[in-house]
Amino acid sequence: MKDLYKDWCDEVEVDAFPNCLVCGKEAGYNAKTEADLWCYLCEECFLKYGQGLGPTDGQILVLKSRKKSV
Ligand SMILES: [Zn+2]
Repeated sequence: MKDLYKDWCDEVEVDAFPNCLVCGKEAGYNAKTEADLWCYLCEECFLKYGQGLGPTDGQILVLKSRKKSV
């Protein structure tokens, strides 16, 4: 059985942050909303409309140049 979470990374590298689809601010997440649609959300809207983080729920956006080294 394939472990979906094994290679899961909750961060996505982007060249530049997109704008939040809800309020237009800089987005920090690509996440699924209650409406089952994926969209870019800022932190505020992610907390309000996001469904959490995970392979089927949402990912954190990180700038390529600023990628956190874990
Ligand atoms: Zn927003």
